[in-house]
Amino acid sequence: MERSRALIAEIEAEFPSFRIVPKRGDRLQAAIDVALRVVTLGGQRSYMTRYHTALFGKLWVPDSYEGMSDDDRYVLLCHERVHLRQRARMGGFVMGVVYLLPFFPLFLAWGRARIEWEAYVQTLRATAEVYGIDACEELRPMLIARFTGPDYGWMWPFPRQINRWIDDEIAQIRALSPTT
Ligand SMILES: [Zn+2]
Repeated sequence: MERSRALIAEIEAEFPSFRIVPKRGDRLQAAIDVALRVVTLGGQRSYMTRYHTALFGKLWVPDSYEGMSDDDRYVLLCHERVHLRQRARMGGFVMGVVYLLPFFPLFLAWGRARIEWEAYVQTLRATAEVYGIDACEELRPMLIARFTGPDYGWMWPFPRQINRWIDDEIAQIRALSPTT
């Protein structure tokens, strides 16, 4: 079975109401897209085309999902499963507040940064698993941009700190699996 299919089955077993739904054609997702363009002054323009969003226990997928490889879907789903578990842990409402409220203020959104970092740890681990540890290093520019740039509203604009988080995590992955 494809790696991503097997993981989807696992996620469905853990979260029976889990579904993968296209963003395109959903009114709320279209409204979020507009709101993000406004609050980021056009900095986040790819919500419908490139960003995957876990919301209400579902995974809302952009246009690009169709073209993703099995391995890339697997890495993505490892990340999104963290958000599903966070939602179960915190409750959807609290998580929504922690996650969304800090768009005001932009630029310092510690809650969202921690929520995302917990998920990106799994992105790194899944990447190491599928593509090897060196591929983690290639994710660094994207990760720095995600945290410090407009994609998530400049949630944690401290690249040195993000670099340190990445260093620590890569060191941990190496320690856990010295052969990769
Ligand atoms: Zn995320």
